[in-house]
Parts: sequence; C-alpha cells; structure tokens
Amino acid sequence: MDIGFIGLGNMGAHMARRLIEAGHRVVVYDTRQEAIGNLAARGAIAARSPKEVADAVETVMASLPTPDIVLKVATGADGVIEGKRVRRFVDLSTTGAVMAQRIFKALAARGIVQIDAPVSGGVRGAEKGTVAVMASGPRADVEAVEPALKTIGKFFYIGERPGAGQTMKLCNNVLSAAAMAATSESMVMGVKAGLDPRIMLDVINASSGRSTATEQKFPEVVVPRKFNQGFTAGLMLKDVNLFISEAKALGIPIQVIEAVAAILKLTCDELGPDKDITQIVQPIEQRAGVEVRAPKT
Ligand code: NAD
Repeated sequence: MDIGFIGLGNMGAHMARRLIEAGHRVVVYDTRQEAIGNLAARGAIAARSPKEVADAVETVMASLPTPDIVLKVATGADGVIEGKRVRRFVDLSTTGAVMAQRIFKALAARGIVQIDAPVSGGVRGAEKGTVAVMASGPRADVEAVEPALKTIGKFFYIGERPGAGQTMKLCNNVLSAAAMAATSESMVMGVKAGLDPRIMLDVINASSGRSTATEQKFPEVVVPRKFNQGFTAGLMLKDVNLFISEAKALGIPIQVIEAVAAILKLTCDELGPDKDITQIVQPIEQRAGVEVRAPKT
C-alpha cells in the first residue's frame, strides 16, 4: 500500500525501511535532509512537508520525539491535517493519552482518523521488526493498517478508545525506566563493595532480580561502556512525566515512579537530555567514586 512516514530518527528510519522492504510505496519527510536522503537511497519518495506527505497517501505514519511536535506535524500549518488524500494518521510516537485524544478530535473534524500505535522494544527491535505495537482507535481503521503494523513489529489491539495504546505504552515504559534506575543503584553498590559486575549480572540473570536492564542494557551497553542503547534520557523523562501526570489525574499513588523521574531529571540536568538512557548510571557512579565496568585482568 501507499504509506507516508514522518520522523526518520532512531526508530522511524528502521520502521520506514522495513515498510519499503516489504514492498510498500513509502513517502517520507523529516526536518533533517540527511535522514530523508538515507531513506530515498533505499527507494522512498521524498516530500518537503507533512502536508505534501498527506497529499500523496491515505495512510500517514509518524515517529516523532515529543507530544508538541506530533501536535504541530499533525494539526499545524502545512501539517497532515491539510493533506488532500490522507484518511488515517497512525502515530507511532509516545505522546500520552491526553495528547492522543486531542489530536484524534482535531483530525476527526476534518474526516481523518487518528490511530495511536506507540511501540516498545528499542532501536534493535525497530531494526529487526520485533517491537511491540500497541494500537488503539476505531477497529475498522486499525484493521486497515494492521498488515503494515505487523511489518513494524508484534501487533496488539488495545481497544477502540483513542489514547488507550498510549496508556499501555506509558505503563510499560515506567517499568523499563524503574528497572534501569534501580539496577544502576544495585550495580554501583555491588561494585563499590568489591563485586565483579559480570558475575553480578550472571547471578542476577539466574535469579529473581532480572529485567531488561540486567539481561541486555548492563551486559551489552553499560559494562562495555558503549552507552549506545539509542533512546535518550530526555525522551524517557518525557514518558515518565506523562505517566505521572496521567496517574495523578486518576488519583493513583506513584512514589516509586516519582523517584525514578527524579534520577532521570538529575541525569538530564548533569549530563544533558540527549545522553543515552543507560547513562543514568553515571551520576550514581560519580557520587560513589566507582564505575560499573569489567575489572582489569
Ligand atoms: P529521534 O529523536 O531519534 O527521532 C525523531 C525524528 O523526528 C528525528 O529524525 C527528527 O529530525 C524528526 N523530527 C523532529 N521534529 C520534526 C518535525 N517537526 N517534522 C518532521 N520530523 C521531525 O527519536 P526516536 O528515538 O526515534 O523516538 C521517536 C519516538 O518513538 C519518540 O516518541 C520516542 O519516545 C518513541 N520511542 C523511542 C524508542 C527508542 O528506543 N529510541 C523506543 C520506543 C519508542
């Protein structure tokens, strides 16, 4: 089918490439020319604005960094809303349920259906097509894009209510963030007490403390000091803050997640929001005076 794709970053570039490789005709746009060029070299058609994408195809997907940017791209001047052909806007970004509902209403007034379909599974998952895709929106419209979403990852239909997929995504991401934050404190403590981090991870991964942080992020990214997970601390802080505001609106106590937000904010303040999520360990290491790395042999 013809698919538009806006936002060709860490996640979007892989997802758009998978759609091209599956035989779809993909029209792409990003504010970075370099990102457009990379996809055009693989067979994508370049557009000059979100409107131009939405002039060319019925289904427009987006993978953009923040809720405000998604709002602007979807409903602003020269945005998807002004496109002549578009009928569906599939948002793969993490925006939170409140923004998803706002965009749904604005687009519905112009006869465009918004489907929220945030993803989880990281850059490696986007590359391999193994991310979880959490779609919500009118069933018939979701069914129309389901085959394309299955090219991107493992498809889940969350429900009719706009924003339900976003709620699902936030519930997942705070667990990922909490595991990364708690594992950082645990690993720094063990290393300062004299344990070998590689042995710690082997034991934890055979024990009850394991998580995506101990199974993948620490052994592959932190201990080798690569810090290239591909998801920024700033974007994770955005997700955790979205969860907090939506949880507060529902009257849920969230002391643990507020502590996770505080350490993410510390990381963003001290190192910068563009630093990798795995660098959340560094402010803890600095205060402890040790690093979680393999000991010299
Ligand atoms: P990214 O910053 O790497 O990519 C965003 C892309 O959007 C960039 O190429 C940027 O140039 C482009 N962009 C920014 N403003 C634009 C605009 N106005 N018009 C067109 N393009 C614009 O971010 P990412 O890591 O790929 O994440 C994208 C979304 O997916 C975010 O909402 C994030 O929370 C979510 N997400 C990321 C990961 C991950 O591991 N990186 C995992 C799951 C979900």
